[in-house]
Amino acid sequence: MTKEQILVIEDEKDILSMVRLRLESRGFEVFTAESGELALQWMSEHKPDLILLDLMLPGISGLEVLKQIRTNQDIAKIPILIVSALGEESDVVVGLERGADDYLSKPFSMSILMARVNALLRRSKPETENIPINEKKENSEDFIILGSLRIDIKRYHVFVENKPVTLTSTEYRLLLTLIASKGRVLTRNQLIDEAIGNDSIVTDRTIDVHLTSLRSKLGSARNLIETVRGVGYRFRL
Ligand code: CA
Repeated sequence: MTKEQILVIEDEKDILSMVRLRLESRGFEVFTAESGELALQWMSEHKPDLILLDLMLPGISGLEVLKQIRTNQDIAKIPILIVSALGEESDVVVGLERGADDYLSKPFSMSILMARVNALLRRSKPETENIPINEKKENSEDFIILGSLRIDIKRYHVFVENKPVTLTSTEYRLLLTLIASKGRVLTRNQLIDEAIGNDSIVTDRTIDVHLTSLRSKLGSARNLIETVRGVGYRFRL
């Protein structure tokens, strides 16, 4: 089996060597670039399985690198994990809206980094490999089962621990949108676009209110929805 390749774009040497060591010890093949220009140049001939992207780089910014990756057909689909310094939440939001898959803020623990890397690599595999066993068994397209949460998609029914839960249509759409992007952070704008639609006037605050209400209705399954501070929401894998 060939090793999965990870490109780490990072200009801080300490972080770079720490990340490289950890990833290599977990069996990944690691390539590094200390600037966006070098990374893009390398990717003109290589296609890694995952990219870790620092936002603050010398030369072109991480956001610009992200844009160039997402608009280059050959490499557009590669999962990207943004790594940002504290206080860069607004850049993180832009990054997620430009198609980054997830983000991690510095300083981060190596075990969280590994969890995110593994989750993204798992998600990028073809669908059939990707479906958790309990979803596969319980069946096909009609039900989503995640822990104590069960959704009957055809009838729009939601159950927690086999008890029916009544959601508003907005809450229901938000829940399905989050599940469809499992493991990925969605910004408030992305949730508005996907679950509510652009034509209604919705503020960030409105999304928070819907999410708070949705969570309280989900009872023991509420922790499946995670708040990502300053950025948005994520459905846990
Ligand atoms: Ca940096």
